Amino acid sequence: MGHWALVIGTPPHLLISLISPCLLVSPSPPLPMPPNPYAWINESLATIHRADWYRSVQTIHGRPGAMVIVDGREVINFASNDYLGLAGDDRLVEAGVAATKQFGTGSTGSRLLSGHRELHRELEQAIAELKQSEDALVFSSGYLANLGAITALVGKRDLILSDEYNHSSLKNGAILSGATVIEYPHCDVATLKNLLSQRQNYRRCLIITDSVFSMDGDLCPLPTLLNLAEEFSSMLLVDEAHATGVMGKTGAGCVEHFGCSDRQLIQVGTLSKALGSLGGYVAGSATLIDFLRNRAPSWIYTTALSPADTAAALAAIKIVQQEPQRRRQLWANVDELKKSMQLPNLKLLPSESPILCFQLPSAAAALEAGKQLKASGIFAPAIRPPTVPTSRIRICVMATHELVHIQKLVKALSSIYIYSD
Ligand code: PMP
Repeated sequence: MGHWALVIGTPPHLLISLISPCLLVSPSPPLPMPPNPYAWINESLATIHRADWYRSVQTIHGRPGAMVIVDGREVINFASNDYLGLAGDDRLVEAGVAATKQFGTGSTGSRLLSGHRELHRELEQAIAELKQSEDALVFSSGYLANLGAITALVGKRDLILSDEYNHSSLKNGAILSGATVIEYPHCDVATLKNLLSQRQNYRRCLIITDSVFSMDGDLCPLPTLLNLAEEFSSMLLVDEAHATGVMGKTGAGCVEHFGCSDRQLIQVGTLSKALGSLGGYVAGSATLIDFLRNRAPSWIYTTALSPADTAAALAAIKIVQQEPQRRRQLWANVDELKKSMQLPNLKLLPSESPILCFQLPSAAAALEAGKQLKASGIFAPAIRPPTVPTSRIRICVMATHELVHIQKLVKALSSIYIYSD
């Protein structure tokens, strides 16, 4: 069969990929081919080093908790998303071990093939109950939940309006969807409203936002976003990763905190922060969840969450519901820290969550501050571009921090000295 037979028998969308190599020929002179096609990686790493943006891992030993051993030294942990101190809790550990003994280590396949267990459904029902939504769907991570939900909900003919400070998983989900993506300035509802006036040029519109902004600690203006979504017939997807277990009377998140549990919206989140396990979820109407089971590629084509992670998350949700005192202690710790945080040497960014950030003038200054804190026995690493536009030290408060931990943090923060010429 000749080339033309292939072209004639080919569906139109595949024809484009057959023809596209010709279309890609650039009119400008060809660039010289590098002798080593991998050499640019070294050069790129060197640039990262020069900007003080280089990252490396630090090894944590033992179970997670308010105190951890980092590089062989015990330090107070203000770097963790384990807000309720559940990741090292015996009950989660035992639930994970029991599930592993009963069901094995791996789920062996995707949920639609061999991987679905009763335990997954139990967890989904527990999430739906916590979130006061009709149903929920568990993904293998929060990142995958965002990718899956966004790519299923919108495509080429649609518009996404995205807060500029959104988490990478929201941003990458938006890019992957193929929709037109416009970022609005952080929490700027006036600009968002303006942008929504373009909504009529698109088939569907989806507004996406973190509820607690992970690198700043402030909250999205959820009731206004919901009103705007309703006014402009748009969908609203809210990432509750840092809010679940933390915000709201029962720990359901910011949707509960703002009294919006009865409004229609799409909630996404993770099982890996206050819930101390691994995995992600989408919660919403039964129709939405049914649709995602059929259309979310990052759910359909990946192995189901392991029995251990599923069981640990289920145990964590029960604790969130049965032990509100953990959340009360977390907020008491946040209040205590904020009370003592009027530091002349450091600027605290506005926060309404257990995430407190101190702005620093440069990436080098943030690295230096992180080093000084570590020398004082405090683990709170620097957060630098490109994760955030400006460098900072990020403090995450936990329910299991004791008064003495907070006092030591304040003392260490107040003695940070940033040299500048
Ligand atoms: N959304 C936000 C706001 C997050 O901070 C994170 C984790 N850093 C995620 C999504 C991804 O969740 P996971 O770690 O479960 O992939």
